[in-house]
Amino acid sequence: MTAHDPALGRPSGILGWLGFGQRNPDAAPARPDPETHRPERRSALQWRQLDEVGRFLIAHKLEVSARTLTAAWNYLTGADSQTVRLIDKQIQQRLPITAEWLEANLGSEGPAEDLALLAQLMERLQSSIEEFGKTSREAQSATSEYHTALEEHVSELERSSKAGSVITDLAAIAKVMLRRTRNMERQMLRSEAQTRALRRRLDEARRSAEEDHLTGLPNRRSFEATFAEEYRIARAAAEPLCVAFCDIDHFKAINDSHGHDAGDRVLKLVAECFARISNDRCHVARHGGEEFVMLFRGEPLEIVAGQLDRLREQLSERRLVNRATDQPFGQVTFSAGVADVFASGDPRTALRAADAALYRAKQSGRNRVEPATPEDSLPPQLHIAA
Ligand code: GH3
Ligand code: MG
Ligand code: MG
Repeated sequence: MTAHDPALGRPSGILGWLGFGQRNPDAAPARPDPETHRPERRSALQWRQLDEVGRFLIAHKLEVSARTLTAAWNYLTGADSQTVRLIDKQIQQRLPITAEWLEANLGSEGPAEDLALLAQLMERLQSSIEEFGKTSREAQSATSEYHTALEEHVSELERSSKAGSVITDLAAIAKVMLRRTRNMERQMLRSEAQTRALRRRLDEARRSAEEDHLTGLPNRRSFEATFAEEYRIARAAAEPLCVAFCDIDHFKAINDSHGHDAGDRVLKLVAECFARISNDRCHVARHGGEEFVMLFRGEPLEIVAGQLDRLREQLSERRLVNRATDQPFGQVTFSAGVADVFASGDPRTALRAADAALYRAKQSGRNRVEPATPEDSLPPQLHIAA
């Protein structure tokens, strides 16, 4: 490969990636014509020449050093006629320009002014390469698609003392990789935010689908799922499972006397009172209207009935006042029917038995807890006939 090889100007070179000038891909690094080298254009020209210096090193697979940079600078700017003559001759004979050859044939390092420019170039190269390394490391960890190819080239690069084309290949791979990684990063950030928003909306939707708006308790639909799950757990562990229906007594009268809003506040208060006993073995839900349903796992029917009875007593002892009017609500009570799920046979039958027991509690004067009897589990027609 020579300085006049069209391949030298290919745009995938590391300097292009590093941002050294906008190059014409077909243009080989060439020595400026001394006739058109006008002093007033020196600064812009110098920068273009700095870019050309970098390309010259890459084209000849030369390491970046003071020696190689000086030689390239002296050749490309025509600052040292001996350098120009020797390198041109080497290129014409299609002989390689190596660091050793430069060392053996060129002694001078050029004028001090030019060395200052070279120092700038080295500094620029250094920081760009460091940045390149840093970015490529980040990209490497962010994407795996080009990982293997990049690693292969990096280790090759480490072994090689003249790394021109390897760097070019590495840069080409890294360039594609970085572009993809950047896009991926942007997409990931966007989709991360979208996922977060979606997750929030899903959580809200799920909550509102399973929660009763007024009391914040699980609703009937949610309870049905819990019941199925608790039934499965209790059966597997041979634990007792009881279900209870609790219905506020004469609730319609509260609404009628104090208004619907006051009725809502009473409902919330009773719900809070029930929720206090809930835990991972005791589930409370609003079944609908002024009716609540409860599930107790791990305790036999008598214990559960006793627990509910204490709750009933606590509520009945409270003297609630309508805070909007300061009028007393009077005694707020509930009645309950409770059934043993396994004694009833299955969840559906147990619910029917608990409802039948609740009905009996109402019939017996309200403000009481009734355990279900075996008769409460009989099919309705048999129940009527009995
Ligand atoms: P019982 O002791 O026999 O259960 O009598 P009750 O008055 O409690 O029962 P009834 O079924 O006659 O009336 C229930 C009332 O509960 C009627 C209905 O308007 C009221 N209700 C149902 N849901 C709500 C609610 O969300 N808020 C309010 N304020 N009232 C409700
Ligand atoms: Mg009622
Ligand atoms: Mg009712």
